[in-house]
Amino acid sequence: MAYLSDPKETIAVLQRYQFNFQKKFGQNFLIDGHVVDKIIAAAEITKDDVVLEIGPGIGTMTQRLCEEAGDVIAVEIDRNLIPILTGDTCKDYKNLRVINEDILKLDLRDVLFEYGFRPVKVVANLPYYITTPILMKLLEERLPVVSITVMVQKEVAERMETGPGTKDYGALSLAVQYYAEPYLAANVPPNCFMPRPNVGSAVIRLTLHDKPPVSVQDEKLMFALIRASFNQRRKTLVNGLCNAQELTVTKEQVTEALAELGFSPTVRGETLTLSDFARLADALGKMR
Ligand code: SAM
Repeated sequence: MAYLSDPKETIAVLQRYQFNFQKKFGQNFLIDGHVVDKIIAAAEITKDDVVLEIGPGIGTMTQRLCEEAGDVIAVEIDRNLIPILTGDTCKDYKNLRVINEDILKLDLRDVLFEYGFRPVKVVANLPYYITTPILMKLLEERLPVVSITVMVQKEVAERMETGPGTKDYGALSLAVQYYAEPYLAANVPPNCFMPRPNVGSAVIRLTLHDKPPVSVQDEKLMFALIRASFNQRRKTLVNGLCNAQELTVTKEQVTEALAELGFSPTVRGETLTLSDFARLADALGKMR
C-alpha cells in the first residue's frame, strides 16, 4: 500500500478524487513523513492503545496510527473525505472506525463506552479554527483521555505552555495546566502542509494529570474568575472581577480576598499563578 506521507501519493489521491480543499474546515494536510514520525513518537502509541484521531483528512496520519495502535477511531466532518478513507487509503485496516461527524457535536462518552471506556490517546493535526473548543471538550468532559498529542498553531502551543508575566499567559494556559502537563515536542514550518498555512505550527503533547496540581473547593468559580480577569486584561483584578457579568462579587469582597492572600488591591490577573487563582476562589467562595 502506498503511504500518503510521500507528497506524490497525496497529490495522486487528491487528483483521483478531484478533491477541493475546504478552507472553512481548516484543511491543511500533512505531506512530510518526518513530521508524522515525530507526532507518533511524541504520542508513544502502542498496540494496547485506543487512539482517537480528530480530522483524519485523506488518512496520512491515520495509516500510521492503524499500524501502531490497537484501535483507531477517526472523526471527520467532511463527508467528501469518507469514501477516500474507507474505500481507498485506509480500506485495509480492520482496527479503524471512521465516524462522519462534527467532533464538537459528537457524544464522545457514548463512542468510548463502546471501547469499554479504556484509556484513550488523542492524536491530531487539528483544524486551527476550533483548537480551543476541541481541547476544552477533551479536558473538561471527564473522558478516559490519558494524553493529547496535537499539531496546533505555534502561538497557541506557546500560550498553553507559558506561565505568569508573559504576554501569552491567559485563560488557555491556566485551563490546560490545571488538567495536564504540556510539553512542546516539535516546531513545524508551513512547507510541511498542503496547502501551506500562513502561520507556523507546533506539536504539543498534553499528559493529563491523575489529580489537578492545585485543590480548589469550587472549580467552576475558579474558572469564572480566570475568564473574567483575562477578558479585561488591562484592568486591575478588582475592576475586572467586579465588572464581570458571570460573577456576583463586590469590590470590597475582592479587595478583602486579595489582602488575605497577600496581594495589593492594584494587582493584575496576569501575575497570578494557578495556585493563586485557586486560593482566591476559595477565599471568595467563603464570603458568598
Ligand atoms: N489529519 C490530516 C492531515 O494531517 O493531513 C488532516 C488535518 S487538517 C489540518 C484538519 C482536518 O479536520 C480536516 O480533515 C478537516 O476536514 C477536519 N475537521 C475540521 N473541522 C472538523 C470538525 N468540527 N470535526 C471533525 N473534523 C473536522
